[in-house]
Amino acid sequence: MFVVLDSLRYDSWLDAAPETLAALGPVERRWSYASWTAPSHYNLLMGLLPHSSPHEVYASEYYKQDFIRYSERLGIEGMEFSKVLPSIFLPTYLKHRLGYSTRAMVSMPVLNAHTVINRDFDSYELMPVHNDMAAMLDKLTFSDERPSFYLLNVGETHYPYALPDEDPARWPRISGVHGVFKHLDPQDADPGSPTEPREFFDQATLAELRGRQVRAVEYLDGVFARLFEALPSDTWVIVTSDHGELFGEDRYFGHGPVNHEKVFEVPFVEGMVP
Ligand SMILES: [Zn+2]
Repeated sequence: MFVVLDSLRYDSWLDAAPETLAALGPVERRWSYASWTAPSHYNLLMGLLPHSSPHEVYASEYYKQDFIRYSERLGIEGMEFSKVLPSIFLPTYLKHRLGYSTRAMVSMPVLNAHTVINRDFDSYELMPVHNDMAAMLDKLTFSDERPSFYLLNVGETHYPYALPDEDPARWPRISGVHGVFKHLDPQDADPGSPTEPREFFDQATLAELRGRQVRAVEYLDGVFARLFEALPSDTWVIVTSDHGELFGEDRYFGHGPVNHEKVFEVPFVEGMVP
């Protein structure tokens, strides 16, 4: 069970201090290989989870060690990088070599079923709304005949950090480019002082948005409690994020075309379902 909490920052997880998720194992501070959803999910499905950025280690050696970990995760002997060749794609390996049922439920339209991410999945669904992990639980099925692999891409932690029962009319209003940006429109700029530092962010709005992401994790912890009850007792669970999010640091908001430590810093936790 591979759950990706989209856009979730490592420190938002720490502030939320989710108790159910803590029962899975200690949360680690790791680093995403990419700063936005599509390349990050491709990398995750290659089997390369967020990395620990170790010093004095060759990348190839790190990848090798990462794949050996799948012996414990999958409960199989002798797992190594060469076993996933040539596709280097977990769903392909799990389905065709290990006989898994492979399923995905995603919240972000850039991961929709027509993208290349949807390869060797038995079922793959873009959820009707972007922020309802609980609705995914209703669709989980398990069989005694075949082991299952699930990818869940969860959107409550993605902008606008809205819980499923929140009226969209009450979502934070981000007008113009984004609302938190001020004077981005060239016609608003003062032509007399083109190099004058301008106020790009409304700090109160950014603090509110970050608080909403923390609140989303607090809410999701209750959904994880339900998820853990629904899973077979020998399920290995991985919970992480595809990238972080910027809330005004160094005049950045969001993720994607952002090169900042906080967009690569992500939480990572794994273990047998508690
Ligand atoms: Zn994302």
